Amino acid sequence: MEHQDLLNGLIRLHVLHHAVEGELYGQWMIEELARHGYKLSAGTLYPMLKSMEKKGYLVSENRRDGRTARKFYRATPLGREALQIARGKVRELIGEMME
Ligand SMILES: [Zn+2]
Repeated sequence: MEHQDLLNGLIRLHVLHHAVEGELYGQWMIEELARHGYKLSAGTLYPMLKSMEKKGYLVSENRRDGRTARKFYRATPLGREALQIARGKVRELIGEMME
């Protein structure tokens, strides 16, 4: 994807937003991001989810979804707190960018 480095932070916040709202799994998140115009491969998203888990923002659980085994992610208390902080920063940035 073009401008990947620059957009990575936004993608992480988007992931965190959905992980706070409920559970998500990789393929669902790839489709959700595609809907918003981000073309991410599993090879890019999966390591991102793993690193967010390692940093303590997400926890995962392996579960069956019908016949498919999936890794479901949700936000930890740290992830919720980080999203709250980011929300304030995004609001301020948008205010300045859209002046
Ligand atoms: Zn979304």
